[in-house]
Amino acid sequence: MSRDMMPSFELYQPDSVAGAVKLSKDVEKSWLLAGGQDSYDWFKDRAKRPEALIDISGIAALKGVRETGEGLEVGALTTLTEIANNELVLGKYSLMAAAAGRVASPQIRNAGTLGGNLCQDARCWYYRAGVDCYRAGGNTCYADTPQGQNREHCLFGAARCIAVTPSDVAPAVVALDGTILVADNMGLNKVPASDFFIGPANDITRMTILKPGQVVTAVHFPKYWAGAKFYFEKVTDRATWDFALVNVASAMHIEGGTIRDARIVCGAVECVPRRLKAVEQAVIGQPQNDDTALIAGRTASQGATAVQYNGYKIPLMENLVRRAVRDS
Ligand SMILES: Cc1cc2nc3c(=O)[nH]c(=O)nc-3n(C[C@H](O)[C@H](O)[C@H](O)COP(=O)(O)OP(=O)(O)OC[C@H]3O[C@@H](n4cnc5c(N)ncnc54)[C@H](O)[C@@H]3O)c2cc1C
Ligand code: SF4
Repeated sequence: MSRDMMPSFELYQPDSVAGAVKLSKDVEKSWLLAGGQDSYDWFKDRAKRPEALIDISGIAALKGVRETGEGLEVGALTTLTEIANNELVLGKYSLMAAAAGRVASPQIRNAGTLGGNLCQDARCWYYRAGVDCYRAGGNTCYADTPQGQNREHCLFGAARCIAVTPSDVAPAVVALDGTILVADNMGLNKVPASDFFIGPANDITRMTILKPGQVVTAVHFPKYWAGAKFYFEKVTDRATWDFALVNVASAMHIEGGTIRDARIVCGAVECVPRRLKAVEQAVIGQPQNDDTALIAGRTASQGATAVQYNGYKIPLMENLVRRAVRDS
């Protein structure tokens, strides 16, 4: 199998959101393309073979960062580099800058977009190799077997598939109570980030609620979390570019040393960004100190179920949550 050549496809390049929505709905076996950093791998490996690409990268309305009356709006085509360096983001929502700045390599961040990062597919290496596992429409999970290579896989929410969300940005978007704007032929839908991502029990073939004919246009961040105390940390196998083994994103309001409100979200432990509501409840109203952080860490892993090779993720997740609460 050659990785040098992609199978041929029709190419559409709409210059408006309405055009992209219409093409995505009407053109059979089509695929939306933004920065291509997730998509090209699929095409080169021939594991996915769309017959038409709808390249949305020329739609100016989907680019840029703007302040709105309600907070901040970041266009779906804004690159991860732009998010990491943007003054408005750095000033009030630096959690997003920290998360975007930890994705992959500078080259991938220069091309990869916010929308593409949130909509990227699972990174389970069996699935990416094009095997006929559950997620690909088959009737087995190759990772969840006694010989399966599953050290990157999930601790929560397994349902035939044990793949995790690979996105570094998604936990930050959930922690900031982001709203994802989704255009379709009926108009613009406002989807809370916590409802946007779906697990295998809901639909094993998708990672998000998106269906053909739906395009993410932007993400809104409410003022409520502007300028809060943030923490982002990602642990990887290698110090150079790599996907998260576990990451954590948190936002907290702290007054006089007491935690008044909190959002704490982990990535790479479930198929969706895992919001830790029990941890949030445990820390709200408590002093920000070592004792509270220790309880937070222990609470984070409640209900975790390891498979053969990913048990190390339990103490890793506990320690990341502990640090998020202690060091914000
Ligand atoms: C070597 C390598 C390392 C990586 N490391 C990381 C990492 O450490 N952390 C991480 O989070 N990610 C990582 N990625 C994944 C990912 O490629 C990037 O994060 C990037 O943000 C994807 O954005 P894109 O615009 O290039 O996506 P594309 O490839 O263009 O699109 C990805 C998916 O999203 C859909 N899509 C894109 N835009 C929209 C939209 N506006 N509306 C609806 N659907 C849309 C596409 O149809 C496609 O299914 C890595 C990728 C590679 C190749
Ligand atoms: S974990 Fe999911 S994606 Fe990976 S082999 Fe199993 S079913 Fe397929």
